[in-house]
Amino acid sequence: MNYSSTNGDTQVGSLCEALFQTFSSKGGLLMPEVINLLPKEFLLNLHTFSFQEICLKVCLNLFGDEIPEEDLAKIIQKAFNFEIPLVEIYEKEVYSLELFHGKTLSFKDIGMSFMAELMSYFLEKEKESQDITVLVATTGDTGSAAASAFFKRKGIKLCILYPKNKLSLLQEKQLNTWGENITALEIDGTYEDCKNLVREVLIDKELNKKIRLTTANSHNIARLLPQCVYYFWAVAQLKGEKRTTIFSVPSGNFGNLTAGIIAKKMGLRISRFIAATNINDVVPQYLLNGSFEPRPAIRTISSSMDTGNPVNFKRLLTLYNHSYTRFSADIAGYRLTDRRTKNTLKDLYEGYNYLADPHSTVAYAALKNYLTPESEVGIFLASAHPVKYYEVVKQTIPDVELEMPSFLEETLRKEKKVVSLSSKIDGLKAFLSNTPN
Ligand SMILES: *Cc1c(COP(=O)(O)O)cnc(C)c1O
Repeated sequence: MNYSSTNGDTQVGSLCEALFQTFSSKGGLLMPEVINLLPKEFLLNLHTFSFQEICLKVCLNLFGDEIPEEDLAKIIQKAFNFEIPLVEIYEKEVYSLELFHGKTLSFKDIGMSFMAELMSYFLEKEKESQDITVLVATTGDTGSAAASAFFKRKGIKLCILYPKNKLSLLQEKQLNTWGENITALEIDGTYEDCKNLVREVLIDKELNKKIRLTTANSHNIARLLPQCVYYFWAVAQLKGEKRTTIFSVPSGNFGNLTAGIIAKKMGLRISRFIAATNINDVVPQYLLNGSFEPRPAIRTISSSMDTGNPVNFKRLLTLYNHSYTRFSADIAGYRLTDRRTKNTLKDLYEGYNYLADPHSTVAYAALKNYLTPESEVGIFLASAHPVKYYEVVKQTIPDVELEMPSFLEETLRKEKKVVSLSSKIDGLKAFLSNTPN
């Protein structure tokens, strides 16, 4: 499979190269050049396959020319070692796809652990393997998922960049208490600054001659593609349902939604998608008026969706051949304020006895707004466990029974190990150059 750039410059020849390089030579994002349809018998009989079987079929379709089936099966087994249940909220109409049963309690564990396994797999196959440094910018969930996936992995170092004084104590501690091969870099700036820093060092030719660098942000196609599997698994769990499915996706950088569109391109029966955001709504705005205007992010209670310049917007455009008409025929936009998010979180709990985190709540509200139950089944993606957003959930429903898991409590007690840097590129470059490999 070739991977081509959203900038239209050089293409990259293989998954392995795409994984380790992330960007095209001119800094474009990579996309698979073709997305093959899956066989009809498979698509029509999804509900007869196991989770592992579905993952294997989907991954073979995406990566099969480069990784032998038995190796891919092993990678899947190691990476996807937790449940992804579809929970009925009410009356065969609204379902929650719980993507948060991985180690760090967000959906990011799924793409991240697959990517980490893939990296170890390709590194082991190299004759003279040179250590690699993986960079990741985060507002919390990406960084903790990356740390958990890469912790103590041979030949790989992880640097987590997060904005200083912008995260809750619990979020910070999940990033800066690891040690070993994980370094937390506290950046005096915003999340957008962290994202820009990662991109800038990755496309810096001189630095990349000296050290081997890549990223675990959703710029990296190897993290994004594995996310296609759970769309198939969700539909499989509807067990032969006749109506088509509408997916509501809580979105920030739009990796999750991009994976859904790719699943649809592989032939999965999906009527449409909802791009659900908090007030950082540049994509819903684009869907309203056809103009995409990035702007600085505003802080909200669904903080992992606080981005004003979504990374994967270019990929979405590419998937629709830059046609606004096709884009907006497939995707509807929705935005929710914090106040309404809190009200909906409460309603969902009191009305249906379902406790959702703020991000998943945004997706649920968006689904309620658009669902036409006569012809569609609605699934919203539940992207984080409510306990991961303990403070907000407790504030919204004070008498809720929500116990902090012991591993999170332990994290709170651990000592912080952190390197502080400015938001200037030179500081990060110097840090990376001076850290022995
Ligand atoms: C990262 C994240 C999102 C947004 O996902 P994207 O793929 O960036 O759109 C939503 N919810 C939670 C809990 C997240 O951590």
